Amino acid sequence: MHEMGIASSVIDAVRHESELRNGVRVLKVGLRVGEFAAVDPESLRFCFEALIAGTDLQHLQLDVQFCHRRNHCQHCGEYFEAAEFPFICPQCDSIATESKGGDELEFAYMEIEET
Ligand SMILES: [Zn+2]
Repeated sequence: MHEMGIASSVIDAVRHESELRNGVRVLKVGLRVGEFAAVDPESLRFCFEALIAGTDLQHLQLDVQFCHRRNHCQHCGEYFEAAEFPFICPQCDSIATESKGGDELEFAYMEIEET
C-alpha cells in the first residue's frame, strides 16, 4: 500500500532526526499533503498508528495538513485556493489561471520535547 510506505518513511525520518539531536523525543510531526499527491490522509493516519503501536514511538502524533489545489492568475498575479471547477480569480474574475501546487508531500514541522 502506498500510504504504508509513506508512513514508514515518516517514521524513519523522525528516528533519524531524533538521533541527530542526541536522542531527543519527537512528540508530534506535521505533514503537508496536497490534494493531488494521491495520498489518503485517513489511510495514512491509520498506517502510521499501526506502525508505531507498541514501539518506543507510540506516543508520536501525526498531524496531516491537507492542502487544496492552488491556482495562479495570469492576468493579475493573484494566488488563490481553487476548490471547484471552474477556477476563477477572486480578484479580477479572469479564467486565465494555471495550477500551482496541490501535489505537495512534505514535512511541515516537528515538535520535540523541551529539556
Ligand atoms: Zn486575477
